[in-house]
Amino acid sequence: MIIFGTRGSLVNTSEPKANCVYCGSEHSVGFHGYVRYFHIFWIPVFPYSRKVMSYCAHCRQVLSKEEMPADLAIQAKTERPRLRLWHFSGIGLIVACLAFAGIAESYEKKQTKTFMQDPEVGDVYGIKLANGHYTLCVLSKIEPDSLGFRMNNYEVDAAADLSKLRNHYANDYEDSLYFWPKFELERLLNENYIVQIKRDK
Ligand SMILES: [Zn+2]
Repeated sequence: MIIFGTRGSLVNTSEPKANCVYCGSEHSVGFHGYVRYFHIFWIPVFPYSRKVMSYCAHCRQVLSKEEMPADLAIQAKTERPRLRLWHFSGIGLIVACLAFAGIAESYEKKQTKTFMQDPEVGDVYGIKLANGHYTLCVLSKIEPDSLGFRMNNYEVDAAADLSKLRNHYANDYEDSLYFWPKFELERLLNENYIVQIKRDK
């Protein structure tokens, strides 16, 4: 469930200086500046409107710009509500999340390359099959020029679901070994046939 909507915040209050036409008090009318913003889970994402209201400190009358007497409306123009940085905090958060995701992805790519160049028995490769599905194969034998893998008995539709295979079918591998020449592996990685390499540790 995503909760979003709009909220208003009072951002500035000016000293009462004007006279009130309603109750007749002198120097009792000031201005409140409001900013309305769009929020997701109460985190402000962006502001979308600003509004100035006059208030009378004496009789409590509140007027919108349209309701103000002409001279008050002119003063209200100088009281433009100021946007604050926190009105955009959601955008900052989104940018931070994207940056973090980018760092995590490049870290995983780097790790995959390292595991490939320095293989260990037990490494689990996530691979794309010719039919477009994905499966796992476990590195079971290391030869000077090639690596021997056993294929998992199950497939998934998406690379993102490979973790399900790792969790539920961790021991469901075929007995027979398939050997891949080491020089082929780099190409398979670059062409995204090898999508990940995981090592337990
Ligand atoms: Zn008043």
